[in-house]
Amino acid sequence: MKIGFIGLGNMGAPMAANLAAAGHQVVGFDTAAPMPAGVTAASRAADAATGADVVITMLPNGQILRAVADQVIAAMTPGAVLCDCSTVDVDSARAVAQQAGAAGIGALDAPVSGGIGGAQAGTLTFMVGGDGAAFDTVAPLLQIMGQKAVHCGASGAGQAAKICNNMILGVTMIATCEAFALADRLGLDRQKMFDVVSTSSGYSWSMNAYCPAPGVGPASPADNGYKPGFAAELMLKDLRLSQDAAQSAQADTPMGALARDLYQNFVDHGGKGRDFSAMIETFTEKNRRG
Ligand code: NAD
Repeated sequence: MKIGFIGLGNMGAPMAANLAAAGHQVVGFDTAAPMPAGVTAASRAADAATGADVVITMLPNGQILRAVADQVIAAMTPGAVLCDCSTVDVDSARAVAQQAGAAGIGALDAPVSGGIGGAQAGTLTFMVGGDGAAFDTVAPLLQIMGQKAVHCGASGAGQAAKICNNMILGVTMIATCEAFALADRLGLDRQKMFDVVSTSSGYSWSMNAYCPAPGVGPASPADNGYKPGFAAELMLKDLRLSQDAAQSAQADTPMGALARDLYQNFVDHGGKGRDFSAMIETFTEKNRRG
């Protein structure tokens, strides 16, 4: 396929490189980042989109997505598909899909889970909103960039799944961190706590796969000075998106709201640029903040 790829940062670059390595013709555009191996540079977003079967975007936020979509939709051939893999607000995802639909372009919101490591290894999970025909067109590309793609429903359903998942992740990471702080105060050995909780009803991905306590559980950013991994400010971004969505949909999400406030405090007081599991230090007496 001929693919336009716009936004070649930490995530987009390896995703585009994997498509090129699989034999697709990839034309890329980024306002700052260099082109990855196998990707031909375009000088404008519209040029990357012209004549493409599929245009993929991997951009920082909904505002930038809307601006880029304005340019690329006008340049795309009717029948082609615009597939946004960024994490953005549900309203922007739906607005872009509507604009694309009016121009005869298929549109998908297809945010990812799996981080930079997953993008490099081609093992991302895609959660996809949009119509079935567009999903079928793009599915072979998602299989190259990832290991799983779930068609979640109509436009916006992919972003909805993403922010619900990451709201759970933010809340459970905080719960795991504060449980270690309590265990410390009660004189319970961290390894013993892991041995019990990881095989009991308190288990979660945060505890079992990404333990925030150094030296406990499988290797995680905690064992590497909390170098991300998944940076705290990206977790904050997703928690803000889930709270914005909760507000506009009038959903009651008090734990999500508290998680957003705690990550805001953490990012404002030294957490920026560190892995989101470094939140554990917020709860240890010595480093207590806020
Ligand atoms: P990034 O900042 O590394 O990459 C974004 C790229 O977009 C940059 O290279 C930037 O120059 C480019 N860009 C900005 N405005 C542009 C424009 N108008 N036209 C063309 N290019 C433009 O960010 P990232 O880590 O690659 O994340 C991309 C998206 O993926 C975000 O929405 C993020 O929330 C989501 N995401 C990231 C991770 C992660 O672990 N990094 C995990 C899951 C989802």
